[in-house]
Amino acid sequence: MSIAEIDLHSALKKFFGFSGFKGLQEEVIKNVIAGNNTFVIMPTGGGKSLCYQLPALIKEGTAIVVSPLIALMKNQVDAIRAVSENEGVAHVLNSSLNKTEVKRVKDDITNGITKLLYVAPESLTKAEYVDFLRTVKISFMAVDEAHCISEWGHDFRPEYRNLKHIIKRIGDDIPIVGLTATATPKVQEDILKSLGMSDAVTFKASFNRPNLYYEVRPKTKNVDADIIRFVKQNEGKSGIIYCLSRKRVEELAQVLQVNGVKAVPYHAGLDAKTRVKHQDMFLMEDTDVVVATIAFGMGIDKPDVRFVIHHDIPKSIESYYQETGRAGRDGGEGHCLAYYAYKDIEKLEKFMSGKPVAEQEIGHALLQEVVAFAETSISRRKFILHYFGEEFDNETGEGGDMDDNVRNPKKQVEAQDDVKILLETIQNTNEKYKSKDLVQVLVGKSNALISSHKTDTQPFFGVGKDKDARYWMALIRQVLVAGYLKKDIETYGVLRLSDEGKAFIKSPKSFMMAEDHVFDESTNDGIVTNAKGGGAVADEKLMTLLKDLRKRNAKALGVPPFVIFQDP
Ligand code: ADP
Ligand code: MG
Repeated sequence: MSIAEIDLHSALKKFFGFSGFKGLQEEVIKNVIAGNNTFVIMPTGGGKSLCYQLPALIKEGTAIVVSPLIALMKNQVDAIRAVSENEGVAHVLNSSLNKTEVKRVKDDITNGITKLLYVAPESLTKAEYVDFLRTVKISFMAVDEAHCISEWGHDFRPEYRNLKHIIKRIGDDIPIVGLTATATPKVQEDILKSLGMSDAVTFKASFNRPNLYYEVRPKTKNVDADIIRFVKQNEGKSGIIYCLSRKRVEELAQVLQVNGVKAVPYHAGLDAKTRVKHQDMFLMEDTDVVVATIAFGMGIDKPDVRFVIHHDIPKSIESYYQETGRAGRDGGEGHCLAYYAYKDIEKLEKFMSGKPVAEQEIGHALLQEVVAFAETSISRRKFILHYFGEEFDNETGEGGDMDDNVRNPKKQVEAQDDVKILLETIQNTNEKYKSKDLVQVLVGKSNALISSHKTDTQPFFGVGKDKDARYWMALIRQVLVAGYLKKDIETYGVLRLSDEGKAFIKSPKSFMMAEDHVFDESTNDGIVTNAKGGGAVADEKLMTLLKDLRKRNAKALGVPPFVIFQDP
């Protein structure tokens, strides 16, 4: 052990009382101390804060920490102060401070007392602060929750967009440390680009949560009864049930109470006192279940949450992962149960319909991944980790058998020939189509795009028409996960061949395919929101729906191009 390493360990012990580093912490910290740009991707609870706190305490100068959550900043400042002789060691700089307080902060920084300065991104836009920070020694800049910089993340904050310029104004070569629990490659790329740190050394921890069991059930009219049964079977255990709307939260909490379950509601429409009370009841085990909107969870650190139920499917895989991630923090049992019906996807698309087009495109692309996840028959863990850019072998990997699809596998069919057709079609049409357009070519159906590309597509038009669009969609998803294809994210999902894909065309091999689940939606007539919105799946549904309408009403001349959603 070198002297520097011994020092790091004793500093860890001295400041935080921990006897060892977790995961990649030590490597990260060395890189930060060396003054390099650093990018840290670790799941929630992985111990990211320490990666900038410890270097800040050791290095000369003040580290600026940008974080979007004022409450969390306060906690961190209190914790650091508690282990230090001088409470000036950490400060928060924000608009709530009066003149005297601001002066105190500035003095402490100037005198070299302050090692950590927490600021909200909007405070950093104040010229007064920036002008002051230019004049003092800054050790590095930590951007916590860095995914807020990306519209592809689950928590986009426009104020984060300017950070690069502000950092530049504070100093020319201030090292940057970006930290996030968002694992999608797209968001990571955005962060590196937006913070201007493409040279950063990246440290990425695995996002596998081997103790979590993933299950998706079809959402029928009896969903409440199903949830009650599940909760009763898990009596006395702590759990969170997520619903999309406040109304649903209230109703479901009541239904559970009537059935003798200790449950409380939680959503942003409740007054602050009730929210705090219900949260405390959950933490103190005075209630077993919290029925909540996504307003519940940020910063909740209850280690023994045994189940997370999604009454409504979330709007992205990312949100699903964050929300289910609140189960089993202690490494014990954690059952993640989601109810899925395609009409819920359509509802979510409807919510987006007023948003700017680019935002809709992003939202739509994220939703398509949710559909794929819900309907897939491959290992759910493999699917999630693949989404996060991580290879996972569910035969050998930890937690490989912990999901419904692996425990109850669907029959598999040999699809080697179809994979070859698929890959060749992609190659020969010059890798320029998204799944839904490619599927149109395969099954021999035209649309505006395809017919405008006749010369390119004609030779392949209908090469896969002995199978239907749903089959090809499912195959594309599985081929993606297997790594033969990659999706170009900049262009919202254009499919390209990987090197493995090119090799497959030359020498095809066995490819076992499981057919996707078919979720019965016969109860949801008339709930297609947007003809374009649902991609191939929705288009198909829309067509069946229109056909159905026409049959039922022969006089239905002028059937509208799409059916408007009616709230039930
Ligand atoms: P993240 O920001 O990645 O979600 P935090 O920084 O909030 O995670 O840390 C999560 C928890 O892990 C905290 O309670 C923290 O005190 C604890 N922790 C961090 N590093 C260590 C360590 N080396 N040893 C023990 N506990 C640690
Ligand atoms: Mg954190």
